[in-house]
Amino acid sequence: MYTNLSRPQSSVLMQLRTSHIGLDAFLFRFHLAPSPDCALCLVPETFSHYLLSCLLYRRQRVALISRLGTACLSLWHLIAAKL
Ligand SMILES: [Zn+2]
Repeated sequence: MYTNLSRPQSSVLMQLRTSHIGLDAFLFRFHLAPSPDCALCLVPETFSHYLLSCLLYRRQRVALISRLGTACLSLWHLIAAKL
């Protein structure tokens, strides 16, 4: 589907784009997680939280910003930009 991505990368991107990804906000709907919230931040563990604000990944986010600039803090840029 995405010619520049490996099959696993394409799979994760599709899961992010559809919000059907193994994060607690999704898993909780099917009784597969004890809470919809991120255990660290105590807010719903959605893909936007995971990508843009989860404290657990702040180091990786800072490294990403240093490489790509602040445009990478846009959900559109992260999951909808043409690859
Ligand atoms: Zn979090």
